[in-house]
Amino acid sequence: MSQATFSPALLRGFIETAREVAEPDTLLVLFKQHNLPEAWLDPETAGRLDAASAAEAYVGIQRALRLYFGRGARLTLLRIGRILWGKALDTAPVGIKAQSRIVRGLPAGLRPKAALEILARLLGGKDQVSLHTLDLDLVLVDRASPLPDRLHGEQAVCYVTLGLIQGALFWATGREVDVEETSCRAAGAATCEFRIKTGG
Ligand SMILES: [Zn+2]
Repeated sequence: MSQATFSPALLRGFIETAREVAEPDTLLVLFKQHNLPEAWLDPETAGRLDAASAAEAYVGIQRALRLYFGRGARLTLLRIGRILWGKALDTAPVGIKAQSRIVRGLPAGLRPKAALEILARLLGGKDQVSLHTLDLDLVLVDRASPLPDRLHGEQAVCYVTLGLIQGALFWATGREVDVEETSCRAAGAATCEFRIKTGG
């Protein structure tokens, strides 16, 4: 299996958001407990890591947050993902920003897919993430995002990605769209798949 990679720009937003959600002092304690490099606490520094180190940081920080928040971790990570969508868009390259302005001008029915195409670019492009239609729904397939640990025998663990998808859809449509991670590499599947109920 090839080494996991993650966008340093997304990692930077992830750490900024984690600091807002978990309080910087809490994060510092967690970093010490889990022997995570303190340099990762600084979003600027983290944003300059290479993609392999960014993946390591992304997984390590999630592990610490999940152990700390316990049963509340899923909701916390979903929330981080939702906030991260907005931050990622704010700091995206001009090409992606231009694409995002077009999305909001589209007819409502076309916006979910167009928003998820932007997310796919932010997550690493079409080699890593692709979009498909299934019946009337959309399916986002993620082949390569770094995989968080599977705790308590969970079937699907990619809560930040799920939150990013929810955030993108809410941004594009102004309403909540039902999203579920229907298969996950953490439970042995070949890809992580997120089914987006756009069919009504
Ligand atoms: Zn997954």
